[in-house]
Amino acid sequence: MEVISKTNKLKAVLRKARCASLKIGFVPTMGALHAGHLALVQRAREAADLVLVSIFINPTQFGPNEDFEKYPRNLSHDVELLTRLGVDYVFAPGPEEIYPKGFDTFVEVKELSQPLCGETRPGHFRGVATVVAKLFSIVQPTIAFFGQKDAQQAILIKKMTADLDFPVEIKICPIVREADGLAMSSRNAYLSVEERSAAIVLYRSLQQAAGIILDGERNSASIRSMIEAAIEREALARIEYVEIVETKDLTPVEKIRGEILIALAVFIGKTRLIDNLLVSVP
Ligand code: AMP
Repeated sequence: MEVISKTNKLKAVLRKARCASLKIGFVPTMGALHAGHLALVQRAREAADLVLVSIFINPTQFGPNEDFEKYPRNLSHDVELLTRLGVDYVFAPGPEEIYPKGFDTFVEVKELSQPLCGETRPGHFRGVATVVAKLFSIVQPTIAFFGQKDAQQAILIKKMTADLDFPVEIKICPIVREADGLAMSSRNAYLSVEERSAAIVLYRSLQQAAGIILDGERNSASIRSMIEAAIEREALARIEYVEIVETKDLTPVEKIRGEILIALAVFIGKTRLIDNLLVSVP
């Protein structure tokens, strides 16, 4: 496996791969890899001839008071994990490689950037869309893999890919969870022991919601209240949002029917965690 930090070098390598008609599987990440990321890499390994993982902590998707500075960084460990999985290339550019001096073009998926995480993280999805568009242009992957963990991001990337006609297939992979149900996240490393046990309230409340839907509850407001009450019982938790939305456009749902997304963002102490559940009701 080779670690490449320069865009021109990567483009030259990938040009050769494309000439040889190799299928390029691409997994964009911000590093501090865990089993959630590695599941995407495994999917890429199964589906593609050449697997490329990018590790880039994208400054433009962090707000001024967010955790860009303290975001976990561990390139050598990440490289070790990816080597074991048979990845071909890691692209680990510095910020100047992605945003050279004078960089002035941004991609915005307008409507899908507004609700849910977009309300409290203005500019976040503009940063995400811009970096993914730039990486797609550099890599020109055949298939790109994203996690359902970041449900709004997944929907937005699909929309951007369709709107801008990027010739890439987008695959969304299921959420990988810890044994107790907590969705794996690089930010789980911020949690103290007490916070870590409190954090299972996110998954538990989603499971309870799934239970009452299975029992026939279809009223979105009642389901949201139940989730909120379950989370509020946990002293270390503070709700940012609990929403039930359409998967196609993230608009709020009143009565549950078809495929819907239950999405939530909750602070456990100072750490903001997100989780979600896709529900299909015939
Ligand atoms: P990140 O490094 O947090 O930007 O994540 C890189 C990719 O991994 C994104 O497509 C995420 O949605 C995905 N991902 C992160 N955590 C998980 C998880 N627990 N299960 C599945 N995919 C995940």
